[in-house]
Amino acid sequence: MTLQRRQFIGATGATLAGLSTASLSQRAGAQTAAAVSQPPFAPPPLLAPIQARTDRIVDITVCTRPFRAAGPRIEAQRIGRQTVVHNYGHGGSGWSLSWGSAKLAVDLALTTKEKHLAVIGCGAIGLTTARAAQRAGLRVTIYCRELPPEVRSSKATGVWSPDSRICDEAHATPAFRQQWEAMARLSHQTYQRMMGLPGDPVEWREGYVLSDIPFDQELPDDEAPPRHPEPEYAELESELLRDLHPRSVALSPDQHPFPVPFARRYTQMVFNLPAYSQMLLGEFMRDGGEVQHREFESPRQFAALKERTLVNATGYGARQLMGDNSLVPVRGQIARLVQQPEVRYGLNWRGHNLNVVSRRDGLLVQSSVDGDFDNEDTTPDRAVAEAAVQRLAMLFARA
Ligand SMILES: Cc1cc2nc3c(=O)[nH]c(=O)nc-3n(C[C@H](O)[C@H](O)[C@H](O)COP(=O)(O)OP(=O)(O)OC[C@H]3O[C@@H](n4cnc5c(N)ncnc54)[C@H](O)[C@@H]3O)c2cc1C
Repeated sequence: MTLQRRQFIGATGATLAGLSTASLSQRAGAQTAAAVSQPPFAPPPLLAPIQARTDRIVDITVCTRPFRAAGPRIEAQRIGRQTVVHNYGHGGSGWSLSWGSAKLAVDLALTTKEKHLAVIGCGAIGLTTARAAQRAGLRVTIYCRELPPEVRSSKATGVWSPDSRICDEAHATPAFRQQWEAMARLSHQTYQRMMGLPGDPVEWREGYVLSDIPFDQELPDDEAPPRHPEPEYAELESELLRDLHPRSVALSPDQHPFPVPFARRYTQMVFNLPAYSQMLLGEFMRDGGEVQHREFESPRQFAALKERTLVNATGYGARQLMGDNSLVPVRGQIARLVQQPEVRYGLNWRGHNLNVVSRRDGLLVQSSVDGDFDNEDTTPDRAVAEAAVQRLAMLFARA
């Protein structure tokens, strides 16, 4: 018996146990005669359906990606008697690049030979910079306006996306690419060491990219062009990090349950942000770190701090604090559905503006909107969230 297309757990109760060795060997291509005579390996797992209902939306969050066309600002600046190492402007890649970026910032801070470091900011970048500095032997105090879960970083999707809105194509010079690759590789390696920790701060998950037309065909241009086009962002991962994670695999219609003719399965690193942020903060405090609530209106107020070396990890806040108008807000909204622990896969429906990430705290449903670029409005738009959930429901109508 082969798997009927569009079957989900609960819909049929069917299993794949009866997949014939003949069909397996066809799919596997060249197999040895000895292998064909063996019982088949375990079949692919059945997928639990997502309960895509608008009444299951429990939260809608909006935050702004701190985008700089030239990429993140990671450099030291002398302000009065202090050295300020800037570490901000990571676009849609802050969590992914954080450890590599932290290393660059801490290396700059270490050149001052100071033993005490102030880190301004407690988001993805501030927390990882503070931890990296502690590991380098520094005593660290974090000063910040907000802590997780109030920081913008807590409203991110939480997937490995190291080149998402990281810079525009024109600024992706060979020097930039080299630095970006080093940051991404160090971060990736750091995350591998967190796999399997209690609470699963980071884990590998599978997902399905779905399409109504073959993947090598361009999507039809049937929609009006965006009124607010985004810049041409640099695409670096596919070129420079090809060896870092498993490639996606094309699936035939009998290998997946979705009502679309084309699908690929991908493997993705997911950050369970609530548990992960709490882990970072807990480790920081355990190792003698201090956190002080403080808001700075101008860099002149840094002079009141006892530390002579600072890292500025204020994210989009740096636009106002440092007067850095090169920071552009790119709005992003996420609707969170009640968690379904049995749903361990993500989805991306090509041409339908729909992305789903399965995290421990819920199922995140995301769709972009024309006008997100240079938009710092963080008011949730429930109609957009509901429309996305309704599109998602179309994939599970039979379940
Ligand atoms: C919808 C969305 C989805 C995303 N998904 C992903 C993803 O899947 N993967 C990924 O890698 N990245 C993702 N990102 C990007 C990522 O969230 C950002 O790059 C990251 O949050 C930036 O972190 P940060 O620490 O620089 O800034 P923030 O999280 O904004 O932290 C800034 C800190 O500085 C403090 N601060 C700011 N100004 C002041 C001030 N004047 N005085 C005192 N303290 C101040 C704040 O209180 C806070 O503690 C996403 C972003 C969005 C919007």
